[in-house]
Amino acid sequence: MSATAASVTRHDWTLAEVKALFTQPFNDLLFQAQTVHRQHFDANRVQVSTLLSIKTGACPEDCKYCPQSGHYNTGLDKEKLMEVQKVLEAAAEAKAIGSTRFCMGAAWKHPSAKDMPYVLKMVEGVKALGLETCMTLGKLDQEQTQALAAAGLDYYNHNLDTSPEYYGNIITTRTYAERLETLSYVREAGMKICSGGILGMGESLDDRAGLLIQLANLPEHPESVPINMLVKVKGTPLAEEQDVDPFDFIRMLAVARIMMPKSHVRLSAGREQMNEQMQALAFLAGANSIFYGEKLLTTANPQADKDMQLFARLGIQPEERHEHADEVHQAAIEQALIEQRDSKLFYNAAV
Ligand code: SF4
Repeated sequence: MSATAASVTRHDWTLAEVKALFTQPFNDLLFQAQTVHRQHFDANRVQVSTLLSIKTGACPEDCKYCPQSGHYNTGLDKEKLMEVQKVLEAAAEAKAIGSTRFCMGAAWKHPSAKDMPYVLKMVEGVKALGLETCMTLGKLDQEQTQALAAAGLDYYNHNLDTSPEYYGNIITTRTYAERLETLSYVREAGMKICSGGILGMGESLDDRAGLLIQLANLPEHPESVPINMLVKVKGTPLAEEQDVDPFDFIRMLAVARIMMPKSHVRLSAGREQMNEQMQALAFLAGANSIFYGEKLLTTANPQADKDMQLFARLGIQPEERHEHADEVHQAAIEQALIEQRDSKLFYNAAV
């Protein structure tokens, strides 16, 4: 298949076609993915989001990869729903270090009626700061979805995790059909979808292809597709899983890019375990979104600095927020880049 033919937006992918994409020579796959990427995006821009856990641990679901599940003993400190004001302070800090989107995650099966008013206030407040808003709160009903949209929620994250065939090995407390139903409510309410999955859970190539087929064959592609590498946490059932071959992970990003050419493909969990060369390869494969992460909210944060240094060395700039030009925000990004340029540690490979 030529790169040009592959860039057409499709919703009818078959398993055989997708496996053929996966199994072609690595360089051919990367060339094709990069070609498709350049038809829809500036290849030197990466969107930056910040993730904050607004309610941590004691989740009733049994996702086998997750340290927040109440089914496993991982020693995680449990926290109640954060106060609205604290969430808004974290959002303001995220904005100051260059994030354009603020993602708030709660470890719930679904939001309760008691918690919804606070959640809606968080959306309204973060939106008022000039950030895009994203939430992940578990399963939603139609009424909740409509309320979140009315409050100004831009994105809802709800991952499919893996293929329908493998799903039962990973989660037993929520069905695949329920996940798809939540995604359909999100669309009906006019919000954007963030949905992806995880590699390294013992899944086969067919399962990786099957996940991407589910996402790409939705009536509309998710605007954001997070591809996660399993972070093995002691106490979870997947703690001893085998590592994913880094090249197989890059292949997953590249195939996602080809199948969903206009979506942001996000290099998500597991990025901290990846060296800089692998991250650079991920951007070449078409990944164009990253998380700064919830622990990375202060300007002195070394990981955030490291990310900015890598961006600068690769000649990558954080993507601007397009909908509402925001001079303050753009100035913050430019300032961060200038500081990196001035840093003695910075070697600019772009000049
Ligand atoms: S629903 Fe989310 S927070 Fe709860 S166990 Fe699954 S992945 Fe973890």
